[in-house]
Amino acid sequence: MTTIPAPHDGALPDPEETDSRATRREADRAAKPAKKANKSRSVDAATTTREAMRASLIGQGFDPDVVEVMLPPADVSKKAYTVRLAVADAVRAMRQDLPRSEKTWAPYLQLLVDGLPGMCPCPCPACAVGPCPCPGGVDGHADVCAMPDDEMHTDCAVRYVGVPDMPVKKVARSTLSDAAWWAQRRGLKRTVARNVKREQAGRPLLHSDGRGAREQFLQASRWMFGWLGDDDKVKANPAAKLKLPPRQEAGSRSLTEEEFLEVYGVAVSTGQDPTLDGLILRHLLIQAVRRGALLDTTCGGLDVEGCRIRYWDQKKQT
Ligand SMILES: [Zn+2]
Ligand SMILES: [Zn+2]
Ligand SMILES: [Zn+2]
Repeated sequence: MTTIPAPHDGALPDPEETDSRATRREADRAAKPAKKANKSRSVDAATTTREAMRASLIGQGFDPDVVEVMLPPADVSKKAYTVRLAVADAVRAMRQDLPRSEKTWAPYLQLLVDGLPGMCPCPCPACAVGPCPCPGGVDGHADVCAMPDDEMHTDCAVRYVGVPDMPVKKVARSTLSDAAWWAQRRGLKRTVARNVKREQAGRPLLHSDGRGAREQFLQASRWMFGWLGDDDKVKANPAAKLKLPPRQEAGSRSLTEEEFLEVYGVAVSTGQDPTLDGLILRHLLIQAVRRGALLDTTCGGLDVEGCRIRYWDQKKQT
């Protein structure tokens, strides 16, 4: 017998098995619409059957705890592990495992629980500075509102309410992409509101469009569902395949000599320890080391004889 290795795992699947798997998939697909239509009814029926079995077994003298293990898992809609519970647990775990990420990520995860009940979806200056002046719905927008009409939400009355009571197992990619849209929109609206003030003060305008917020939300979600997966609370990570937005980089450049001298001049003439500040700045310039790495340098990292310094990178733990 010849075996042709499959490109991915080195073994061809048993044709019989593949067939039956395909058949099963087919059957699943066929059953799906019916399943959906009858969902609440069948859930009720399953619950009733389960309750009857449970009562009967306990009646036969089995210990209730043992019965619980014997029966198929209950559909515990009321006691389901919801997003609200998951976020609380995940934030607690994050505090232990990733204390540096908690401050950034926890508020984004909380968005899934609390929603953004006070924020309309319009990014126009009037709505961004708020409160939203529009009646919304069929009454449309106030004159001062300039809602773009090619948006995901074009009604100022729409709000993001979060998904606190959704069982985590039901959270889909679309659930998270919706929340990500709102997170990004909040970021954009903050920029718009700041720019209104900046424009009045004659200061240069900001360009952030909120994609940083989208990225943070998605990263936080990836982490949370990964963590829930490790705990067997979810089977797949719905955030895994949601694309992170490309970074919005402001063209970075080095300071000119005059600019550096100006910064340096400020550093050595103000602050609590101008001498130290000057040394730090000169060091940054000469060694091109990260700011955080230099500030976290410890005495142990100094090798006086070899004239070497070991820097500590918090993020990479090296
Ligand atoms: Zn509005
Ligand atoms: Zn409006
Ligand atoms: Zn508006």
